[in-house]
Amino acid sequence: MTDTLAPTVVPTERKVVTAIPGPRSIALQERRRAVVSDGVSSALPVYIERAHGAIVVDVDGNAFLDLGAGIGVTTIGHTDDSVVAAAREQLGDVIHTLFTITPYEEYVRVAELLAAHTPGTHAKKSVLVNSGAEAVENGVKIARKYTGRAGVAVLDHAYHGRTNLTMAMNFKAMPYSLGFGPFAGDVYRAPNSYPLHDGLSGEAAAARTISYLEKTVGAADLACLVVEPIQGEGGFIVPAAGFLPALQAWCTANGIVFIADEIQSGMARTGAYYASEHFGLVPDLVLTAKGIAGGLPLAAVTGRAEIMDASQPGGLGGTFGGNPVACAAAIAVFERIESDGLLAEAARIEGVLKPALLALQQKYPVIADVRGIGAMIAIELSDPVTHAPDSAAVTAIAAEAAQHGLLVLTAGTYGNVLRFLPSLAISDAQLADAVDVLDACFAGLAA
Ligand SMILES: *Cc1c(COP(=O)(O)O)cnc(C)c1O
Repeated sequence: MTDTLAPTVVPTERKVVTAIPGPRSIALQERRRAVVSDGVSSALPVYIERAHGAIVVDVDGNAFLDLGAGIGVTTIGHTDDSVVAAAREQLGDVIHTLFTITPYEEYVRVAELLAAHTPGTHAKKSVLVNSGAEAVENGVKIARKYTGRAGVAVLDHAYHGRTNLTMAMNFKAMPYSLGFGPFAGDVYRAPNSYPLHDGLSGEAAAARTISYLEKTVGAADLACLVVEPIQGEGGFIVPAAGFLPALQAWCTANGIVFIADEIQSGMARTGAYYASEHFGLVPDLVLTAKGIAGGLPLAAVTGRAEIMDASQPGGLGGTFGGNPVACAAAIAVFERIESDGLLAEAARIEGVLKPALLALQQKYPVIADVRGIGAMIAIELSDPVTHAPDSAAVTAIAAEAAQHGLLVLTAGTYGNVLRFLPSLAISDAQLADAVDVLDACFAGLAA
């Protein structure tokens, strides 16, 4: 290969050279309006041409420091060299056969890596699919087949996807499900643990959740309970200590499959391969997607062999599931995490970002909470007097940050959370720069 990889053309610092969005992005936005469904939105209509590490560059030459990583997908960095090399090599070897027709080694290797790195030492098996929502759908299918039960329990503030079943599993109707019904049945939502708002211990919150499910569904009708160990779209809600282990113990005692949706929190994001590890959880099934393949579409359900094997041959799969190029990229991601100690990088990021955000909280009373683990940190904004969620402040900060070349994502049921999911490639200097921009944005808001 003679051509060079991306790093030579992408800067390492943010730099704004036009208005945001710039003229070329505005022109592209016009073309898009004519042909792309209005049902697909974009948080910031700047059109990206190149990216590397923690920087994305738009068509007008503006370089953005990216604290979103495509919602926690390019976890090891944009256009990571090892991912690019592995995918390029695989493209030249074989792009597609369909694993359910003629299989290939890369799929098996990814399943081996998932078995090795998901929590627990029991025998595990996987099925590979294309998207997070598809992993959730398959997790539910597999749990239903194994238990012979229909009920699916989920938690308040959950987000699981945009397919028909997952729409029914989400907490938020707007924008995810409004007008898109009828929805799948047998989905039951129960209270979560939200320490900032409920003030409950993990044990008390779990007792409330369990009692709710026993009263409104009955444990014997539940196939599975699906939890995000740290809720993603819900606003990086870290449950009180003891909440998740108590739920898992109840599931185990009642023959309910405990499913951890680690689509956002997994793959080294929190300084462990899976956030479940922080809570001492060994889920029956683990769902992986977003960060697994460095930006290529790949997702997985991994779990106890006896549960995964309950489905009849042919019952699981799909045309593109476990695509060889995506698998090659995923193998490179696992190798990078291992050989370059990337779990420690997530801990480093927490060590820099969290104290800096706590310092901002001292200055700006609109910051009600700083929370999260590893490179999955959020701040929740609310009115210091009434405690009403302040989504307007979140919108204003995100918009102002973008004007200065900083990409930050919003979250939360009430839109009042700023979430930070930087790639593990972000440097301490880049993080400090991001915090300076945020500080200036909050100062502007307060003025
Ligand atoms: C993003 C996400 C999903 C859905 O994944 P898609 O790939 O967008 O279908 C499901 N669960 C969680 C926790 C997510 O963050």
